[in-house]
Amino acid sequence: MMSELTDLYQEVILDHNRQPRNFRKMEEADRVQEGYNPLCGDLLTLYLKMDGDRVQNVSFVGSGCAISKASTSMMTTAIKGKAQAEVERLFHSFHDLVIGKSTGPTDSLGNLVIFSGVAKFPTRVKCATLAWHTLLAALRNERQPVTTEEESLPAPKGL
Ligand code: ZN
Repeated sequence: MMSELTDLYQEVILDHNRQPRNFRKMEEADRVQEGYNPLCGDLLTLYLKMDGDRVQNVSFVGSGCAISKASTSMMTTAIKGKAQAEVERLFHSFHDLVIGKSTGPTDSLGNLVIFSGVAKFPTRVKCATLAWHTLLAALRNERQPVTTEEESLPAPKGL
């Protein structure tokens, strides 16, 4: 099971790295948020088009390692159409998963569950979560650029 997950992990990450989904600048965005992970050099700009508190559309541009790019790509497909509260819950589950502290069911994560492999590589956790921290800042309209330096991270609710 673990090796199947590892194979899937590599396959999916390579696919999203090669062909990131929603990879474009969004002219009609009403929120634009930058995120930076200085440990790895991952850099992204996230665009959100909101409908009330619901994410109507999302896209990104940027450069970084395969994990950060795949994670951002998969995040955009996972959150489209979701309300802020759902997105925050999803981030909470995802965060627990990548730090290896997942306790509850992971069904809601869908194919994001492949990132459980990241828990074995603590230095890559920030690569996998950068997009989500950036997203949270955008949803909360914080405007400050996000870096993965601890003190500036918006914590998922309940952590
Ligand atoms: Zn990275």
